[in-house]
Amino acid sequence: MTNILQIAIVGAGMAGIACARELQANGYRDIAIFEKSRGVGGRLTTRRMFDTRVDRGTCYVSPKGEKFRALFDRLIAANIVETWTDTTHTLSANGEMLPDADIYPRYVAPDGMNQIAKYLATDLDIRFNHRAIAIQPDGNLWRLTLAGTETIEILARKVVLAIPAPQAVDLLAPLTAILPVEFLNDLKSVEFYPSIAVAAGYTPSQLAEWEAAYPQVKSVTCTDDPILAWLGVDSSKRQQPAPPAFVLQSTANFAAEYPNPEDTSTASIAMLERASERFFPWFRACQWQSPHLWRYAFTKSPLAQAYIAIDLPAPLVCTGDWCGGRKVEDAFLAGLAVASHLAKVTM
Ligand SMILES: Cc1cc2nc3c(=O)[nH]c(=O)nc-3n(C[C@H](O)[C@H](O)[C@H](O)COP(=O)(O)OP(=O)(O)OC[C@H]3O[C@@H](n4cnc5c(N)ncnc54)[C@H](O)[C@@H]3O)c2cc1C
Repeated sequence: MTNILQIAIVGAGMAGIACARELQANGYRDIAIFEKSRGVGGRLTTRRMFDTRVDRGTCYVSPKGEKFRALFDRLIAANIVETWTDTTHTLSANGEMLPDADIYPRYVAPDGMNQIAKYLATDLDIRFNHRAIAIQPDGNLWRLTLAGTETIEILARKVVLAIPAPQAVDLLAPLTAILPVEFLNDLKSVEFYPSIAVAAGYTPSQLAEWEAAYPQVKSVTCTDDPILAWLGVDSSKRQQPAPPAFVLQSTANFAAEYPNPEDTSTASIAMLERASERFFPWFRACQWQSPHLWRYAFTKSPLAQAYIAIDLPAPLVCTGDWCGGRKVEDAFLAGLAVASHLAKVTM
């Protein structure tokens, strides 16, 4: 058993790291984040593959509120993000490519969207490959069981679950008898849409054909398509010349037909086939492809508040983008709100 942590945060996505960073900035110590994967960012992710990087999660960010805008001012000054495009496009059901009316900067990180998370995670104590598999009260503390190369237990005075609500429901299921009914009902009311994201590589001449047909078109929402929800020219985010790459996102209904990760490559073939029908025949014959199933991609039914919390036997807070919305900015604001809540709760 290790020392008692002041605050244990589960999940190193935007909500978890924003919360930890804010607490640390306000003088709190003995905070650790436990993350099941090998990297920071959660759905704000980037993978290195085929001599390039691809963003199969968050594609771009458009800050709306003052606090997130201030973060982006710092990210721009640090050369981590830059404007990708001011204009997104929509492909109508009859195949017309039209610019969207709302013109404002969509920011991306040329080195990968996870650079935003890495910037915020600087100096935080993040323990990767630690999956929270159980949580139990232990006197006036919480005992977390974490599985990784070995299974360990830690004690914490306060716990934050900064993970999608359905995953928090699974973790808290054994505590049904002691948790308030309203708390669990709120958590269970949050549903998510799945999505399959496919990164695929093409030749420079194929990319040139795209650019000739669709000049300046980098982000395309497909309306009324049963399979494709969105397409982005991912390589246009990178320092040029970058190997040409596109990212496709499926509709939620299509992803729901492939709930098992082992079927994701079959889904990927169908998505590329659909892109061949909607854009160019060469989409089906990519140089490489890399699909990812997001079981919890986008919040379907967010809560109105920035977190849900109980104080007994010790403070436990659940949060994420699903508290207030469905985007990176919502996760960031939720993390800040949790930090401010925890600062008010006495140890
Ligand atoms: C394909 C896709 C495209 C998107 N595009 C955009 C976009 O363009 N713009 C935008 O603003 N938003 C976009 N989003 C949404 C955005 O990614 C999310 O709103 C945001 O990243 C959520 O952050 P979070 O911290 O709430 O959750 P997450 O990013 O999901 O972080 C949760 C973290 O907890 C970890 N975790 C889960 N369970 C455990 C456990 N038991 N133990 C330890 N760790 C655990 C996970 O590994 C993860 O790292 C997109 C999402 C997807 C999937």
